Amino acid sequence: MSGSIVGRTLHHGSFDCPVCKRTASYQLVRSQRYARIYGINLVPMTEPIDYVECLRCHSTYDRSILEVDGDAHARQGGSFKDGVLRIMAAVGLAVGEVDPCQRATMEEIYERVTGTVLDGRDLDAALVDVKRSSYRLDATLLALEPALNGEKKELLIRTAVTVAAAGGSIGKQEASVIATIASALDVTHIHLAALIADFHAPSSDGS
Ligand SMILES: [Zn+2]
Repeated sequence: MSGSIVGRTLHHGSFDCPVCKRTASYQLVRSQRYARIYGINLVPMTEPIDYVECLRCHSTYDRSILEVDGDAHARQGGSFKDGVLRIMAAVGLAVGEVDPCQRATMEEIYERVTGTVLDGRDLDAALVDVKRSSYRLDATLLALEPALNGEKKELLIRTAVTVAAAGGSIGKQEASVIATIASALDVTHIHLAALIADFHAPSSDGS
């Protein structure tokens, strides 16, 4: 087939690129072959084909990857939310029972991090679960880790730091739980220290 292929960008966004294995920007391109007459693209010769191009590695994908990605996020959302709950419960319980004031903080953090309202029963279930002597927070997080991008990991660490700091300063037991979380999520000590410093920085607007 002759003619020339013309592509135009329909929109930009970000997605989890399977090649980059991280969140990257993409452009959704609509490409169509046109008959050329005197060097001018005139009549479309084919149906348009839409594809997604990763702007980082330039791999191209069928546009369905954006839907798959959405589904993956939805599925992952369940376990990510679960991770947020378990982390809040573990940090909250590090220094004893969770009081109503801490619960209020957790509700606020949960809503900010996950975009959904915290159901008190879910928090109660997480607290009961984490209190079990056999419960391992690192096991929960290790299972979750492959599905998390850097941004989500930072969110989880920030969640832990915020819950820990809610009572004033971060105590030894809380710091130990945070270190466990960072290690399970494969976040380095340096990165963790930066996140905590960031949290304490007065100039941080928390956005
Ligand atoms: Zn890529």
